[in-house]
Amino acid sequence: MSYYKLCAISSATGILRNCRRTARDGEKPTTPYVRRLRLTTCYGFKIKDGCLQLPYHPREAIRIPLTPHVQATIRKHTVRSITLTKDKLSLTYTKQVAEIKPDGFIGIDRNLNNVTLAAADGTIVKHDLSDATRVKATYRQVRSRMRRNDVRIRREITSKYGWKQQEKVKQILHHASKLIVQQAKRQQFGIVMEQLTGIRRMYRRGNGQGLRYRGRMNSWSYAELQRQIEYKAAWEGLPLLYVHPRETSAKCSMCGSRMARIPEENRLLHCPSCRVSVDRDVNAARNILARGVRFAPVALPVEAMVQEPSAGDPESRWKRVNELKPHDPTS
Ligand SMILES: [Zn+2]
Repeated sequence: MSYYKLCAISSATGILRNCRRTARDGEKPTTPYVRRLRLTTCYGFKIKDGCLQLPYHPREAIRIPLTPHVQATIRKHTVRSITLTKDKLSLTYTKQVAEIKPDGFIGIDRNLNNVTLAAADGTIVKHDLSDATRVKATYRQVRSRMRRNDVRIRREITSKYGWKQQEKVKQILHHASKLIVQQAKRQQFGIVMEQLTGIRRMYRRGNGQGLRYRGRMNSWSYAELQRQIEYKAAWEGLPLLYVHPRETSAKCSMCGSRMARIPEENRLLHCPSCRVSVDRDVNAARNILARGVRFAPVALPVEAMVQEPSAGDPESRWKRVNELKPHDPTS
């Protein structure tokens, strides 16, 4: 069917684009080729009598039976496109989501071993991610033990372990992102995260790993967690904001003073003016939350302190909030 050619063209374009990007990054460009046979199409297929019907001739179609679970899942939605490989069939479906007007926000701080949530109602939740760190460490060891001289074989094994590791870490992150979005939905809160710049985290902890490796692995898993939260939140209609990461872990979330480290308690920070000690992850999550609330395009109760007489249309309000310069704790 001629409409399948569109799929081939767009796949080829994608492969070519990746290939050019590799060449631009200075790596040796290889001849682009198709690794796996695949058909993605939004034309021609039909879902009827519990089967996917895929035409291969004007009047003939192959029929692929769908499991009851798949049928139940897509019943309420519109299937937009399908992807068929040698052993897998994926259906992409869409749903109309009404954007939730949030009653507040949840600030999210992602660390090496946990992700910490600070919600507008004061709730603090920590999700443990140390399993992900452990997976990374195990595979790192496996890789470092390899003593094969053949560069090609070594590269192949490394990439195989790299892939397995990513899959395992992904699963752990999926569990956390699911719980985070469930909480936000339950509380009817929007989500605030740090805009990843790739610099802050990279230089943060000296734990003996190579800088390059640590940076790449961490920024990958930070970005992956954000990606998951982003699409899961969008699916539920929850608004999501990104804020600048500067000094979210260095300043007191209550008064804005610079925090002091407590030498024997490395997870705790002390604020000299509030005279309290607070968990550093909790402090960072609260800072992210506060920053998000300040820049939120919707008027929230907390924002009353920056309210001006003319609360006109939402557009101008957004601008006004945006114009506010960095937070002055005395105002
Ligand atoms: Zn303070």
